[in-house]
Amino acid sequence: IIEMTDVRKTYASGSLEVEALRGVSLRIAQGEYVAVVGPSGSGKSTLMHIIGCLDVPTSGDYVLAGGRVTELAETHLAEIRNRRIGFVFQQFNLLASMTALRNVELPLAYAGVPVAERRRRAEESLARVGLSDRLTHRPGELSGGQQQRVAVARALVTDPALILADEPTGNLDSTASADVLALFDELHAMGRTILLITHEAEVARRATRSVLIRDGQLVAS
Ligand code: ATP
Ligand code: MG
Repeated sequence: IIEMTDVRKTYASGSLEVEALRGVSLRIAQGEYVAVVGPSGSGKSTLMHIIGCLDVPTSGDYVLAGGRVTELAETHLAEIRNRRIGFVFQQFNLLASMTALRNVELPLAYAGVPVAERRRRAEESLARVGLSDRLTHRPGELSGGQQQRVAVARALVTDPALILADEPTGNLDSTASADVLALFDELHAMGRTILLITHEAEVARRATRSVLIRDGQLVAS
């Protein structure tokens, strides 16, 4: 589903240039569960942003689900992001003023899904992560683990082929972390493709494959 060839990413801040990715080639087949491991500043989040079409490479080639992303305009990239990819972040990134249900409905609203169907699918997605009894709670009224499960429900609601998670358990205690990782195991068993960034060796071991990144380059697979 992912074919990256010699991808480079250079950030310019003022007169300083940082080469965050230095020739990354990576192939991930549909249904794989891949962990990306590496030290702080090695380029993990940069790689995830490019894979998730949140950012584009400075050079190199990226083909996602048969489409050459490096040739697409921003409107197409936004469409791919909304419909084909589910994101989970370390800080949950939920909207504080909205209920769990509304947060999960958001990607469907962006996709133009009618209100009634939006609601049904959001409820279904929250049920899948075990939060049917928290639909009208706001993020501030939920535990960290529950907030992350809402974020996973939101990532799933569009039925994406690819799920990207950047340190999804980084802010969770071990029990909440185990709950969230069990959800990823389940999604993998259902045939989703998952790419998960982590610092923790124990988390990486749950994936079927790990890739190690150092100074913007993949050093082992
Ligand atoms: P961490 O484990 O701490 O999250 P990471 O592996 O995710 O680190 P990245 O966030 O990908 O690392 O950053 C890689 C390099 O690119 C770092 O040196 C960082 O300072 C730089 N960088 C990242 N984003 C930007 C940006 N928007 N502008 C300029 N430099 C950036
Ligand atoms: Mg990061």
